[in-house]
Amino acid sequence: MPELPEVEFAVTRLRDAVAGRVIASLEPFHPAQQAHLPPADQRAATGCTIERVERRAKIQLIALSGGALLEVHFRMTGDWVFTRVGDPPPRHERVRLETTDGVRVSLVDSRAFCVVRFHAPGAFALPDLGPEPLTDAFTVDGLCEALARRRGPIKPALLDQKLVAGVGNIYASEALWEARIHPAAATNRLSRARVARLRDAVRLVLETAPAERYYGRDTGNDAGTDPGHDAAADAAPEQERWRVYGREGEPCRRCGATLKRLPQAGRSSFYCPRCQRRDPQRESQREARR
Ligand SMILES: [Zn+2]
Repeated sequence: MPELPEVEFAVTRLRDAVAGRVIASLEPFHPAQQAHLPPADQRAATGCTIERVERRAKIQLIALSGGALLEVHFRMTGDWVFTRVGDPPPRHERVRLETTDGVRVSLVDSRAFCVVRFHAPGAFALPDLGPEPLTDAFTVDGLCEALARRRGPIKPALLDQKLVAGVGNIYASEALWEARIHPAAATNRLSRARVARLRDAVRLVLETAPAERYYGRDTGNDAGTDPGHDAAADAAPEQERWRVYGREGEPCRRCGATLKRLPQAGRSSFYCPRCQRRDPQRESQREARR
C-alpha cells in the first residue's frame, strides 16, 4: 500500500506533468471508478485548468480553475502512469485524464480500489485529520496530549489519521522500533521522553523513506511507460529496506534478538522483543537511573 512518502512522490510527479494545463477529458473505465465519477462530473471537469496539485495525509487534491476540486485516493495499489495521447494504454488503467496539449495521465490500479471524485466549488470538506508529521504542527506537546486521552495499544493508535495524518502500517512498525517502544505499550502510559522519541522516530522514518525506489513496486505497471519508474530498484528485496517490517524471525539490526510479529487490529506489527520494552514503568525507572 502506498504510504505517505510514496503519495508525496506521486503528487510531485503529477504536479510536474499537469500543473497549468487544461483538461480535455476525464474518463473512468472500471465500474467501481465510474460510480465515483458520473458523466456529469466528467463533463464539469472538462475545460478546467489544473491550478494546483496538493496532498493532505494520503489524499491527493487537484485544484481546478473556478474552485472545483478532484480528490484522489490510491488505496491499496494505485499509481500514476504518464504517457502521451495516442500511446498504447498502460495495464490496469482505471481513470484517464488527458490535457489539451497531449499529456495523458492514467490512474492504474490492479485491484481497482482507487477513487477519483469531482467536487463542485466549496463542496469539498477534508475529514478530521491530525497534524502532518513532517510539519511543525506535529509537536511533542500535541502528541502527549492526544495520547494521554486514549486507551489501548500504541501501534493501532499511530494508524489513526486523527492522531497524526498519513502514518501507515509499515512506518508505524518502523517508527516504534526506532523509538524502542513496544507496539502493545499503553498509549496513555507513555512517558514524555518516550513520546518525544516516538515523534522524532516518525519523522525520521518518513524523511529517510526511499519513496522513489519503493513506489509502484506491486502495482502491475508496465515500467517501460513511466520515465520516473526505476525497474531495477523494484527488484530489491523488501526486507533489506525495512528495519523490522516483514522481518519476523530475522535478527534485530540493533541488538541481534529474533524479531517477532504481533497481530493487532487486523494488521501485523513487527518488533524486537529485547529493545522494544512493553512496560513503561520499568522503562521510565531505567531512564531515571541513567
Ligand atoms: Zn533489538
